[in-house]
Amino acid sequence: MAESDPINLQELRSAIPGGRVLEITTATGCIVGCSYCPQDKFVSRQKAVSQVKHLGLEEFRRCLGRVPTDVDISFAGYSEPWLNPDCTEMVEHAYMCGHGIRVFTTLVGMNRRDLRRLQALRFRVFVVHVFDDGMYMNGRLVRAKYLDLIRQLVDSDIPSIRFLVLGEVHPDIVGIIPAGALYRTRPLSSRGGSVDPKIVETRPPVVGALTCAEARQYRNVLLPNGDVTLCCMDFERRHVLGNLLRDEYKDLFEGPVFREVVDCMNGMDGFLLCRICEFAEPKTSACSFNAGETADPSFLENSGQ
Ligand code: SF4
Repeated sequence: MAESDPINLQELRSAIPGGRVLEITTATGCIVGCSYCPQDKFVSRQKAVSQVKHLGLEEFRRCLGRVPTDVDISFAGYSEPWLNPDCTEMVEHAYMCGHGIRVFTTLVGMNRRDLRRLQALRFRVFVVHVFDDGMYMNGRLVRAKYLDLIRQLVDSDIPSIRFLVLGEVHPDIVGIIPAGALYRTRPLSSRGGSVDPKIVETRPPVVGALTCAEARQYRNVLLPNGDVTLCCMDFERRHVLGNLLRDEYKDLFEGPVFREVVDCMNGMDGFLLCRICEFAEPKTSACSFNAGETADPSFLENSGQ
């Protein structure tokens, strides 16, 4: 199908449900090499504390066993999820445990058998980040097998599937993606100042109390060694809430790191990644929230989800 009138990114955002999420970073390091991804910074910070390259299946199961089933599991994180050969197995396991499943993938590392297994599941979100025309991504991975997989995916009956491109679609893919399922944007986030400022400039810091427009302090990221970082912006491990191989899920939000994040969001002095994040908004009302607060659905609904 030919490309025409790609859908606005805001529509994609509004199609993504709110609520608590645990994103899974299945691998340290990524071969996709998007120029707007601060992968090198994540790898160097992560390798300084752990030599674990891939999240093990057994470790994933142990971590997941500590996570309530009303927390969605999102296969996204700081690297391409299918660079871990156990990724499909992890998705199936999380699904069987009763979690809502979200997928954000470039398809790199996925094969036809993986896709057939995935087609048997139901997803809350399934977004394919497609290759651009070479502006920000290296098209060397756009080969016959990849194109076959995109075709198989387009023909699959995954109802929630959407395609996203940052920039213009790679010329070999243009004719394959259905226009109605394509969202186009450009690199918008500096990932808390971690991206090359020539691609996305870091915003001026928010001073005083602030909120996260999408309540992403409750959309945390599991790393291959079990550590959990604050959110998808924290490539440099600035706020590590705990470790799910050791801690219970609720402990992540009752420990000193999360409490300090909350205090800083409420205006306390101290380093806070949110200050230079595009999702941060100055707090205009007198309301504030507490470190031990649970994911009250109305709170999440009221915060831009
Ligand atoms: S404001 Fe940015 S850094 Fe802070 S929790 Fe939200 S997404 Fe993460």
